Amino acid sequence: MAVLEGLEFGKSDFVLLDEVNIEQFMENLKLRFEKARIYTFIGEGVVSVNPYKQMDIYGKEDINAYRGRELYENPPHLYAVADAAYKAMKRRSKDTCIVVSGESGAGKTEASKYIMQYIAAITNPSQRAEVESVKNVLLKSNCVLEAFGNAKTNRNDNSSRFGKYMDINFNFNGDPTGGHINNYLLEKSRVVQQNGGERNFHSFYQLLRGGSDDMLKSLHLHNDPANYVYTRDGAVTSYNDRYSHNTVLSALNVIGFSEEEIHSIYRILGTILILGNLQFETDRESVLVVGMEDVSHIAELTSTEPDNVTKSLLYRTVATGGGEVIEKGHSEKEACFGRDAFTKVLATLGLHDRLCHINTCVCVSLLFSFEQFCINYCNEKLQQLFIQLILCQEQDEYKREGIIWQHMDYFNNQIIVDLVEQPHKGIISVLDEACLSVGKVTDTVCLESMDLLPSDKTMEFHRDFRIRHYAGDVTYSVEGFLDKNKDPLFQDFKRLMFNSSNPVMKEMWPDGQLSITEVTKRPLTAATLFKNSIVALVEKLSCKEPYYVAYLGLLENVRVRRAGFAYRQAYTRFLQRYKMTCEYTWPNHLMGTDREAVEAIVTQHGLQDDVAYGHTKLFVRTPKSLFTLEQERAAL
Ligand code: ATP
Ligand code: MG
Repeated sequence: MAVLEGLEFGKSDFVLLDEVNIEQFMENLKLRFEKARIYTFIGEGVVSVNPYKQMDIYGKEDINAYRGRELYENPPHLYAVADAAYKAMKRRSKDTCIVVSGESGAGKTEASKYIMQYIAAITNPSQRAEVESVKNVLLKSNCVLEAFGNAKTNRNDNSSRFGKYMDINFNFNGDPTGGHINNYLLEKSRVVQQNGGERNFHSFYQLLRGGSDDMLKSLHLHNDPANYVYTRDGAVTSYNDRYSHNTVLSALNVIGFSEEEIHSIYRILGTILILGNLQFETDRESVLVVGMEDVSHIAELTSTEPDNVTKSLLYRTVATGGGEVIEKGHSEKEACFGRDAFTKVLATLGLHDRLCHINTCVCVSLLFSFEQFCINYCNEKLQQLFIQLILCQEQDEYKREGIIWQHMDYFNNQIIVDLVEQPHKGIISVLDEACLSVGKVTDTVCLESMDLLPSDKTMEFHRDFRIRHYAGDVTYSVEGFLDKNKDPLFQDFKRLMFNSSNPVMKEMWPDGQLSITEVTKRPLTAATLFKNSIVALVEKLSCKEPYYVAYLGLLENVRVRRAGFAYRQAYTRFLQRYKMTCEYTWPNHLMGTDREAVEAIVTQHGLQDDVAYGHTKLFVRTPKSLFTLEQERAAL
């Protein structure tokens, strides 16, 4: 029997608090943290506090201690949640998901890695080669995703600048047979500009500092990040990349990228760095590129023609109202804008998205601008999912099963979700309308139209606007919202890349084949694309049984779990598992119905005060009762 921790470590499950309020909650969290207990359960979820130092709790023995055990048999740990999700999937042949949420720097990325390591360690006992290779791919994918999607910020040296969702598929034996990764909203503005003290994505520095001389030469790069506009500000910070260029290279190989694809990825990195150094000058009326050598390097790296590169940088082809196609020269400012938009899309399409087609990850993170707005919207959606799954479902089930439920008030954030996403009258709609209107709609005009939204006191206006998110008020600066929402990439760049003779690059730009007149059609905006992907994510999650490593609505969570029953099982299933522990049900089933048989088992073990009988299921209030039954069963 596992030794449960004594009270000197605080309450190992917030459900056991004497009173549910923020003071007791924080006191317990603090006490546990001081005793080096960084994890605390809330029912089947776990709250984690970042220790910022290596803890000796992730070893082989720790993994073995949690393996196949019930949640309530061991002290709180990520492994307990991972095992519960894994076991539930195996037992019930049902999809489960683990949602890891929290602020930047909270430890989500590290947690998801520990969870993956745990799953890898407990599966495939017979070491079958195919399964081992899937596991290898899954584990190696982290280092690649972190290289291209993480960056040093002022809050976290290894901050994930994208949200990630990862599926792992298992066969009937419970061994991983494949997986799939989806990513959300890479913070692509970071490619061209970073805040003071922050860096570009790790991969640029890894390549420049760690790439072989031959490789750098073939990419026309010099090895010092200070040489490049896009990396020079971050060049002086002392952050050591956790993974070296070579580790990432070999991970790309293991994951299954072909040599050609890997070359293309590094060529795109090179192209971005060189593009960033391009400058423009105005000679009389026309704008010129300074440094034709860079242009020819870009053409070489993208397998396109130097003339076409210059043209895409300096001109824009547009269709007039009468259908006539004309070329319009950029101003210096427009040329810089176009170049930056091009590099941003190169980074997303060419690097990030490409790497995320790793077919063989869990949550969301983040930035008070447009990007922050998108991420907070995503968090609202996850909270809504949580409310639906845990709170509503729970209340509905009690009703259905005829169990008496004490009504509990909680804040339903659906009104905030509506404020953002409702068709025609949500913030995203207002943004989209403003982006598509002809003439000059400014951020301020857009703000005024938002003011007309039916916002139900969840939104306030001053010079900027404030949303009362469920997790707290956030004030957004509307500046730049419209530009960021538009698809700012000139068609000319898409066409340039579609005409690349490198098939890997060509394939990334299918839009490049559209005719100029076709392009005048309504492009989807950044906010709408993001909304669509989040709606799809929530759909995916909502059909899975959720396990949480969370900070969302913690107190609410504790209240619901306490008000209710932590565990429930259909009578037939319960009977099957525990019939051998009772003389009335084993070896012969002497009772009438399954429910009566279950009542006999419960009474024999004296657990009647801790359960309630529903129409089809037994509801168990605390883990203790199940613990007793599991022990009885094991002792036979
Ligand atoms: P972001 O939203 O910015 O991506 P995050 O929640 O993913 O943040 P992590 O990158 O996982 O945060 O954690 C930040 C840092 O905190 C890690 O690089 C590591 O140094 C430390 N850390 C996190 N979890 C642990 C842990 N369990 N043990 C030791 N250190 C940890
Ligand atoms: Mg992270």
